[in-house]
Amino acid sequence: MRRNILVFLVLLLILIPVGITLAKSNQPTGFTEIHSYAQLLQDYAVATPQQPIRILIVPGHEPGYGGAEYQGVYERELTVEIADQLAAYLRQNPKLQVIVARSTTAWNPDIGDYFDSQWRSIQKFVTTQKKGMAKLTKKGTIETRSSDEQVDHAKAPDDVALRLYGIGKWANENDIDVVVHLHINDTPDHGPNDPSPNSGFAVYVPDAQYGNAAASRPLGEAIARYLSAMNATSSLPIENQGVVEDQDLIALGANGTLFIPSVLIEYSYITESKLTHPEVRSVVTNDFAYDTYLGIQSYLQNPVVAHYPTTSLPHVFMDTPEAKSSSPDAYALQAALHIAGFYPVATTTPAHAGQPATTTPRTLADCPISGLMGPCTIDGIRAFQVAHGWKPTGSLGPLTRAALNAQFATGVAQ
Ligand SMILES: [Zn+2]
Repeated sequence: MRRNILVFLVLLLILIPVGITLAKSNQPTGFTEIHSYAQLLQDYAVATPQQPIRILIVPGHEPGYGGAEYQGVYERELTVEIADQLAAYLRQNPKLQVIVARSTTAWNPDIGDYFDSQWRSIQKFVTTQKKGMAKLTKKGTIETRSSDEQVDHAKAPDDVALRLYGIGKWANENDIDVVVHLHINDTPDHGPNDPSPNSGFAVYVPDAQYGNAAASRPLGEAIARYLSAMNATSSLPIENQGVVEDQDLIALGANGTLFIPSVLIEYSYITESKLTHPEVRSVVTNDFAYDTYLGIQSYLQNPVVAHYPTTSLPHVFMDTPEAKSSSPDAYALQAALHIAGFYPVATTTPAHAGQPATTTPRTLADCPISGLMGPCTIDGIRAFQVAHGWKPTGSLGPLTRAALNAQFATGVAQ
């Protein structure tokens, strides 16, 4: 009897690992890895202006067509502004060659010509890759992601989708090493004068099963790390992970169409105050570009030493920005207070009617760095003053100005 139990136990111990192995062999294995991160870093280490690392920046949407719109602000124009600023930062690095896919009015001529001459071959390529993906899905090599696992995206018209696949195919064939897609986010159906219920940034990376996923994810993580210094992460479920895997975005190589690393950045929702106020918009887009640049340099393991995560600093502080006004001054003030640890600060409701005082923490989602002067900034100035042992006036008197300027009026922006 005892002996039987022992045999049973031994058998069980043998069978458990066998069972695990069997279960494992049924797991989807995905596409094989292509263009490894380690290889890219090796190429970067020996890159020269004659043999550079080639980065393709794709401003989201098309010349004069598509993308989010809100109160006269167009995503497709903002993304070109960010792309040009990002290209200028990256071009300071002689190891990099930067190609921008379009302007506000036209495609990059190489890419435009490619659409004209290779339209048929783009169609054929997409059909072949889609068939291949369907086959791998049927075999169980690839697992299809459900709508609980990833964010729903608006479907592009067929010709727009094919041009986007075409950009990927062009990149595959033209020695591009890294692709970066730039977008401004939106929520469907929020009405022409109602802000989106969501805010914040997200960086999309290819689903882990794609061959370019392993090299893309560290790029997404590096960019998200720098963007989070100044921006709240998206409030939308799944997007709130900050770095978000996706199987269906063409920009990232849906259906196994991209053989190189790619990320897609949603910098902000288009209805956020940092974009709806024209006084600060170019400061904001410049910071988006700057933080993306810092992220790319960090990904290439050649980080740029930045004094501040924002181009709004150094800054000489003078007058208190007027309440409800929007200005680069207020933006720099919020950025400085944020770096100093006083923006945002928690709100406190004093004790009353037998109830104890309550403190509610606030995040960058509640108090964005937006250049819009309001209670968040005044509370931040007060907290800064209290920390220095001064009377909390909430405005920039001589002492407060001097303290801010001692910390933030110097330092070199990159
Ligand atoms: Zn977009």
